[in-house]
Amino acid sequence: MKKVAMIFLCLLILILPSQVFAQRKVPILIYHSIDEFEGHGSKELYVTPKNFEKQMIYLRDHGYTLLTFDRWQDINKVNKPIFITFDDGYKNNLNAFDIFQKLKNEHFKPTGTIFVISDFIGRSNRLSTSDLKMMADSGIISIQSHTATHPDLTKIENFEYELKGSKDKIQKITGKPVNALAYPYGIFSNNVVAETKKYYLFGITTTPELFSEKGIKDEFYLLPRIYIKYSTTLDDFAKIVEGE
Ligand SMILES: [Zn+2]
Repeated sequence: MKKVAMIFLCLLILILPSQVFAQRKVPILIYHSIDEFEGHGSKELYVTPKNFEKQMIYLRDHGYTLLTFDRWQDINKVNKPIFITFDDGYKNNLNAFDIFQKLKNEHFKPTGTIFVISDFIGRSNRLSTSDLKMMADSGIISIQSHTATHPDLTKIENFEYELKGSKDKIQKITGKPVNALAYPYGIFSNNVVAETKKYYLFGITTTPELFSEKGIKDEFYLLPRIYIKYSTTLDDFAKIVEGE
């Protein structure tokens, strides 16, 4: 009997690592403008609405679950989790919102996160307070913080204004919790992480890889993201999200 138990135990040890500890890799994608490029700014920071729609259809047809950071714990419960994020709060993110609404069906519930710069809300090419409220109310878009003025956080001292101030302002507009911060330019330091921890549950970088839980210190404040660019083909996109 003991021998059987030993063999069983050995088998269990052999099987366990691959079954239990195999961490799934979660793509967190970063977009800026969802619009035609008409010569303003950097072309690679645009994705045309047509391409964006094709990419979202790819996710729909391949069984992905689009999550926002308030559903972080679901990464181990849902099929093929993925995060779609947009930085800087451009007005043209309404195009992404429209595409999400268009593709929404019984089985596919697209959601995304817009990281807004709180002092820029309402400027000419940026989302307004009513845009933000409308999108947050829809349940399709989560509005999170990209600081108050988009500084290099390693070079500032007024963290209270940039981190807490922006969080408070956005929460007041949407009436929903703000728990995630995207570091401007993806730049952070140990001090930036320590300050972020005071007000947020997540800190998002632009380290270009898929997320996998490793149990390292502060890993939720070092979340990686992969750029989807103007030049990203659907083939490239598929490889990125499939982790190839
Ligand atoms: Zn930015």
